[in-house]
Amino acid sequence: MPLNFVWGPEDEDGVYKPEYVEARRPRMKLKSHNTGRQGQGHGSKEEGCSGRCRSESKGTLRPTKRESRAKSLHYPHSTEINPNAPNALRFRQIFLSSATNYTIAAYLRALTLHPHLAGTAPSLATVNYVVSHFKNLSLQTHTAQYKTLLSYPTHSSLSAHFTNGTVHDLSLSEPSKNDNGDDAAVVRPYHAYSPSGTAFAKAVFVNYGRDVDFEAIKELNVSVKGCVVIARRGDLPRGIVVQKAEENGAVAVLMYTEGEEVKGFERGTVMSGVGDPLSPGWAAVDDAESLELEDTQVLKRFPNIPSMPLSVRAAQIILDSLGGAPPPEIWRVHLRAVGPGPTILNFTYQGEKKVATIHNVFAVIRGSEEPDRYVLLGNHRDAWTYGAVDPNSGTAALLDIARRYALMMRLGWQPRRTIILCSWDAEEFGMIGSTEWVEQNLVNLGSKAVAYLNVDCAVQGPGFFVGATPQLDSLLLEVTKKVKDPDSEGSTVYEKWAATNAGTNIQRLSGVDSDFAPFVQHAGVPSIDIYYGRDFPVYHTAFDSYEWMTNNGDPLFHRHVAVAGIWGLLALHLADDSILPFNYLSYAEQLQRYKRILSNLLDENVSLHPTYKKKKNVSLHPLTTSIQELVSAAKEAEDEAKILRQQETTGDSVVLKKRALNDRLMLAERGFLDVDGLQGRQWFKHLIYGPPGDHESKLDFFPGVADAISQSTRMSQKESQAAIQHEIWRVSRAIQRAARALEGELT
Ligand SMILES: [Zn+2]
Repeated sequence: MPLNFVWGPEDEDGVYKPEYVEARRPRMKLKSHNTGRQGQGHGSKEEGCSGRCRSESKGTLRPTKRESRAKSLHYPHSTEINPNAPNALRFRQIFLSSATNYTIAAYLRALTLHPHLAGTAPSLATVNYVVSHFKNLSLQTHTAQYKTLLSYPTHSSLSAHFTNGTVHDLSLSEPSKNDNGDDAAVVRPYHAYSPSGTAFAKAVFVNYGRDVDFEAIKELNVSVKGCVVIARRGDLPRGIVVQKAEENGAVAVLMYTEGEEVKGFERGTVMSGVGDPLSPGWAAVDDAESLELEDTQVLKRFPNIPSMPLSVRAAQIILDSLGGAPPPEIWRVHLRAVGPGPTILNFTYQGEKKVATIHNVFAVIRGSEEPDRYVLLGNHRDAWTYGAVDPNSGTAALLDIARRYALMMRLGWQPRRTIILCSWDAEEFGMIGSTEWVEQNLVNLGSKAVAYLNVDCAVQGPGFFVGATPQLDSLLLEVTKKVKDPDSEGSTVYEKWAATNAGTNIQRLSGVDSDFAPFVQHAGVPSIDIYYGRDFPVYHTAFDSYEWMTNNGDPLFHRHVAVAGIWGLLALHLADDSILPFNYLSYAEQLQRYKRILSNLLDENVSLHPTYKKKKNVSLHPLTTSIQELVSAAKEAEDEAKILRQQETTGDSVVLKKRALNDRLMLAERGFLDVDGLQGRQWFKHLIYGPPGDHESKLDFFPGVADAISQSTRMSQKESQAAIQHEIWRVSRAIQRAARALEGELT
C-alpha cells in the first residue's frame, strides 16, 4: 500500500520537514527530531528487546529521559548549514541534516508487509510502491521489464528411517504468518534451479562440502557414492557444493546453516554464473533470442542432482543418528560419526522452471552540466520471504535518499552529473535484473557510467563493512568521517570503524553475491558495496521480517540512517565534485600487494613441488613494469587534478580540461576488462576482480591467474608454468591499458 508524503512548512533553518502521512499505520512510529542518541551498545543483539518493549507499551517510540538529555538534534546529524558555503557543500549539509529514522522505518514496514519473491504477483506490490514513491516525489521514473527463467518449488518431503524401524517426517515448513498475523504465502524452503528428483538412500555428513572435506572423508574409507549428502553452509556457493557432491557420486544434497540463533531454512539459488540462463550475454527483452532449456549452455549452469535446505534442528536429528567412522578432527564438529547411514533418508523435491516477467525501477535526476555522465545507486527489491534485511533495509535507505534528494531539488539543487536510483528485481536468483540491464546498456554504461554504488543487506546488525574498487578508497574514508556513528555517542562512522580489529579494512569485489557483479566484472564500472553487520541469523528464512529488524537488527533505525547517509553522500560527491574523487595510487598500491601475495604463493608452490623452478620459469616482471606505469599515470593525474581544482573559473577551456581528466579517471577502470574474458567463463571480463573458477583458491584477485594455478596439478610443470605466465601477461596488459587510459595520450 503506498504511503504518501506532504511537504511540511519550512522551518527556521530553511529546511523543509517532510510530514509522513500513514496510509497504513505501522506498529511503531519512530520520532527522529529530538530523539537523541542511542546509548552505547543499544540495539545490539543482546539488548534487542529495548525498542520492542517500548513500542509495545506505548505504541510509539519515545526517547528515554537519558536519551533526550544526551542530545536533542535531528538524528543523526547536527550539521550547521552555512548559507555562505559553496553550493555543493551547502546541499551536502542539507542532505545530512534532513535524515530521519521514522521515514526509513515506515518504508521498510510497507515493503515487508508480504513476501515478495521475484516473478510472483505479490512482488508487483513492491514495484508499485517504489514507482509511486518516486513519482510522488516528482522524480522522473521508469521501469525496465525482462522475461527471464526463474524457478519455484511445487512439492517437497523428507523423512528419516531409523534402524529401530521408526520413521520421522522432517518438517520442511516455516511459519507463514506475517507480523500482522495475516496468512501470507511464504515460499516453501527450496534451492532455486535444483532439478526435481527423489532419493531413498543413506545419509552421510561431508562438513562444508569442499574438496578438502571430500578428501578427508575418503581417508576414512567413507564413500558418499549413492548417498544423500548433508553439508553445513560455509564459504562455497550452494551450487558448487552440489556440484562437488555430484562429482563424488552423491544422489542428493541437504544443506543447513549453523548458529545458536539460527532458525528456519536458508533458501538460495544453486545456479552458477550471473544473469538469465536463457539469454547469456544479452538482455532478455521481449522477442529477444532465447535459448532452449535443453541447450548445453543453459544446462551447464544447473546442477544435475537435487538439493534442498535443511533446518539446523532437522540436521541435528539426522546427524545424531549416524554410525560409521568418527569425523576427522580438523572438522571440529560435535558428532559421533559421519555415516553413511545407517539412517536412510527418503527425499523428494519437485519444482518448475518457468519464464516470468521481472521489473527494474529507476528514478533519474538529470545532471545540469554533464547529463551524460551517470552515478548509479542500486539495490535489489526482490526477497525470498519478507526481506526486511535482505534486501529491503537497503530499499528503505534508497527511498529515503530519494526523499532527501527531492527535498534538495525543491531548494534549488540539481546535480552536475545525472544520478540514477535503481531498484533491481530477481537478484536472489542470480543478479538477474541488474545483469540484464547492464547487458542491454553495455555501451552507454561503458562510455558514461562514473560509478555504481550498491547496497544489498544494508542493516544486518552492528559494525560498518564495505567493499570497493580501490580508486574509491579515499572517498570512502572521507565520507565516513562526515557521518555520525549510529552506535556510539560522539564519534563518526570512520572513528568507530578505524577502532575495530581489522581497522578501516576495505574488501574487494571479486564475489558474485550482489548486483555490483555485472557492473564491476562485466562492465568495468568503479563500484562500492556497503552494509552494517554481517552473518545475521535469519538470512533467507521466513524470519527475515520487520519484526526481526525492530527487535534485533536495528531497533531505532539509526544504522539505516547511517547507511543512507554514507550512500547518499558518496553519490553527491561523485555527482557534484568538479573533478571525480578517484585515486588510482590506491589502486596501484593494491596491485603491488597482490603481486607480493602472488609471489609468496608461487614460492609456496615451489616448496610443495621441489621440482618447480619458479624464479627461472615464472616471471612477475611484466606485473612490476605495468604497475609502475600505473603509478606514473596516477601521479600525473593527481597533479593535474590539483591544478584544475584551484581553477575556479568556469571558462570553456577549464570546463573541457576538467571533463577530459574526468573521462580518463572514469575510463581507467575499463582498461582492466579483457575482450576475451576469463578462460571458459567469457562473461567475466575483469582480470583483477572476479570469482576464481576454483572456489577454494587462495587468491581472491587475478581470477585468471588463480585458475591457472589451480589447474597446475593436472598439467606437466612446463605446461602449467606457461599457463600461469600467460595469465600474468594478460593481467599486466590489462594494467597497462588502465594506465594508458588514465594517461590519455596515444602512443
Ligand atoms: Zn540480497
